[in-house]
Amino acid sequence: MNDYPTGIGFEDALQQVMALAATRRTDVRSVALGRAHGHVLATDVVSPLALPPFDNSAMDGFAFRHADLTGAPLRLVGDRFAGPAGEAAIGIGECMRITTGAPLPAGADSVAIKENCLVDSGHVRVPLDTPAGANVRRAGEDVEVGQTVLYAGALLTPARVALAAAAGVATLGVARKPSVAVFTTGDELVEPGLPLAHGQIHDSNRDLLMGLLRADGLEPTAWPALPDDPARIEIALRDAACAFDVVLTCGGVSAGEKDHVPAVLERFGRIAFWKVRMKPGMPLLVGELDQAVVLALPGNPVSVLATYLTLGRALLDGLQGRREPRPHWRARLSAPIEKKHARREFVRGLLEPRADGTLAVGPNAATGSHRLRAAAESNALIVVPDGPQSLAAGDAVDVLPY
Ligand code: AMP
Ligand code: MG
Repeated sequence: MNDYPTGIGFEDALQQVMALAATRRTDVRSVALGRAHGHVLATDVVSPLALPPFDNSAMDGFAFRHADLTGAPLRLVGDRFAGPAGEAAIGIGECMRITTGAPLPAGADSVAIKENCLVDSGHVRVPLDTPAGANVRRAGEDVEVGQTVLYAGALLTPARVALAAAAGVATLGVARKPSVAVFTTGDELVEPGLPLAHGQIHDSNRDLLMGLLRADGLEPTAWPALPDDPARIEIALRDAACAFDVVLTCGGVSAGEKDHVPAVLERFGRIAFWKVRMKPGMPLLVGELDQAVVLALPGNPVSVLATYLTLGRALLDGLQGRREPRPHWRARLSAPIEKKHARREFVRGLLEPRADGTLAVGPNAATGSHRLRAAAESNALIVVPDGPQSLAAGDAVDVLPY
């Protein structure tokens, strides 16, 4: 257990997590659109249709031939409503009443808006300044037949699922979401709702982790906190590792006498890396046990936040084959940050929009990765790069909103 004295750099850890995830991609399944939201798409979607499928009206009004706009009223020869429609055509000097989404009658090339027209005894006066092609949505202007509209690796947002629906694609190939087993560890932990004896604290990380995972669209399963008992930890982790894609633990992963998680991995699985040069979160361990990837996070709540939002999320995204990067946020510091150590640091901060269109982030003065209140009063982690830094107010920094 002495082979991991200083740990690896943060970027190295990130690369290793992504490489490991790429070898353990979850299987692909076909799901109905109603189940597709929030999944990562696994197969490209090609539209069998043009969108719109036919020329149609963008407004309620009158379809006409622009060449007929001479000042004389146009003869009203019928109507076209949205819905299944047979062939219809207009001739010279004619127009047809039309509703939004109704197919344009043959011969028509423009639509005048209803409110701007005068209808009088079967004739319609259309404003002379109506431009040619006005209020017509052309077939295929959004998507052409055979065009790839969604790519494997994309997160299925509501708009993307809706695009598949519009193209008539009823099922999508998606990556199965990884199953995640969540374990908290520590003899000091007591369930919220139960009284504390001296020396005990409530288990807050379980709710933190479950919330983070659920907010990322996963359905994690949690156990009651494990005691710092090597046999109990071994049995629980090995059991979960047979059935889950990811076993996520927190606590018991440092160098203390009661930190038993690394030994279980060393003995029954494989340690990919242990200890990362980051603050907080240094004792993080990533490994493999049976069919699961093990992500062993340190116990301090802010370490859980920083390690989950960076490496944990990268692992879960990678297992699902997500290629689309997470949205990248930058903000301007509203107070300076100084650090002397070499590790990458994650500082709690409050992200706020400013009137000038920029984002400001104010570092929280509280130090100490146990201070959950400071985390609760913040909404982002400020990324302070590797190496000594003296960042001034106004400097731009990366931020991870949570
Ligand atoms: P450990 O990593 O087990 O040494 O724990 C580091 C610190 O985090 C200790 O102060 C623990 O009491 C605290 N801690 C560990 N697990 C939890 C938890 N589930 N909820 C709240 N605090 C925890
Ligand atoms: Mg502990």
